[in-house]
Amino acid sequence: MIRIPCPHCGLRDHSEFTYLGDATVSRPPDDDAGDWTSGSRWSHYLYARDNPRGIHEEFWHHGWGCRAWLVVTRNTATHEVIDSKLAREREVQS
Ligand SMILES: [Zn+2]
Repeated sequence: MIRIPCPHCGLRDHSEFTYLGDATVSRPPDDDAGDWTSGSRWSHYLYARDNPRGIHEEFWHHGWGCRAWLVVTRNTATHEVIDSKLAREREVQS
């Protein structure tokens, strides 16, 4: 069982959350938005995902709680949750 520490609600069962994907992907600039060809930055941003084994940052939404978006650091091999923070408080990667 995965339990996720929500900064607002405390330690909660993962069934209260929805997994929303890789939190390490950076959005390309909007001026490239018209290029959807294979291999473009937008195509990669929307469709290409790694499937890492080990420690990874993921977006989770606490839909059955405070409805906050979180960045959860989790070991994908053991399901150990190492850290969680509000998505709006994380440092933006460039
Ligand atoms: Zn919460």
